Amino acid sequence: MRRMTARPANAHQARLLRLLRDGGPNSRAELGDHVDLSRSKLAVEIDRLLETGLVVADGLAASRGGRRSHNVRLTPELRFLGVDIGATSVDVAVTNPELEILGHLNQPMDVREGPVAVFDQVLAMVGKLRDSGVAAEGFDGAGIGVPGPVRFPEGVPVAPPIMPGWDGFPVREALGQELGCPVMVDNDVNLMAMGEMQAGVARSVRDFFCVKIGTGIGCGVVAGGEVHRGTTGSAGDIGHIQVELEGRQCPCGNRGCLEAYFGGAALARDAEAAARDGLSAELATRLEAAGRLTAEDVATAAAAGDGTSLDLIRDGGARVGQVIAGLVSFFNPGLVVIGGGVTGLGHTLLASIRTQVYSRSLPLATGNLPIVLGELGPAAGVTGAARLISDHLFSPA
Ligand SMILES: [Zn+2]
Repeated sequence: MRRMTARPANAHQARLLRLLRDGGPNSRAELGDHVDLSRSKLAVEIDRLLETGLVVADGLAASRGGRRSHNVRLTPELRFLGVDIGATSVDVAVTNPELEILGHLNQPMDVREGPVAVFDQVLAMVGKLRDSGVAAEGFDGAGIGVPGPVRFPEGVPVAPPIMPGWDGFPVREALGQELGCPVMVDNDVNLMAMGEMQAGVARSVRDFFCVKIGTGIGCGVVAGGEVHRGTTGSAGDIGHIQVELEGRQCPCGNRGCLEAYFGGAALARDAEAAARDGLSAELATRLEAAGRLTAEDVATAAAAGDGTSLDLIRDGGARVGQVIAGLVSFFNPGLVVIGGGVTGLGHTLLASIRTQVYSRSLPLATGNLPIVLGELGPAAGVTGAARLISDHLFSPA
């Protein structure tokens, strides 16, 4: 066993570790360009990191004129575990210290079975990954995402509407004991935002939204390069913003919420109703064959030109766009990323969201505002989870 026992002793060391995580092996000279330290103080901090074993020497760097400097890198044995629990599936991945994925598993799973059953499944998947040799010696830390509000940093889900049985469950503590390493827990939407910021479409963007449309709808808010969680951890819970006065009943207990009109669950329900009402032969055939419909069925039917499915996607996109337009006016982001399971609805959905945002927000806010699909797909959440725990470990102790 050779696991990470040391933590950075100060903010300079923490910054150096994160630079090596995000940029890979680098020379002392190049690192010096990114930190506010004299040459001699930088040398002291790097030497201390070498002593802790968090960082190792990695050959000679390319010459920048004068004496050649030594490359350093994060110790290559570091392993982070990323777990992204969705409403209907779970992703588990192992990363190296640069947060590149070394092994990744995805399985169907029902979050309503409760934390004990779900974590049994997660731990079995972790065991498989370890057996494959990518993390034979265990993990230095793990990040876990759950599809509901999380009291941060205690890592406890709070009254999650689609997760009965999870309210107050000590995820951080329970999994930390099982895995034998530090654990951080966040909601899945924040992790998707961190993943896209780490290795996806939001790289180098400081202020952006990441709207996840899965079974429900949430929004990761990144301000100044950091996830904004709010006072209690519920920032970005936009699925329960009211879009219709006295509208449809929502599982949260209120009426007219965005999630009651769109998201994977609402879309499947509306598609089944349309099929039963004889509005779409395509959907009716699929319903008869499978006994139920999913957002994927709607995507496939829409791709085949089914008008009802296209209308459902356009209407849903317009609802989401209406909410995002309000958020854009309030926050002035530099990018809006759309991700989650329903991105299979693709460009019809994106076009509908764009139309709403561009027509409802002021030109100064939207003049240079890309609204794009996420790049990482199912890797976004697990990459974000690895970033979450590495951010924690690469902070001054
Ligand atoms: Zn609601």
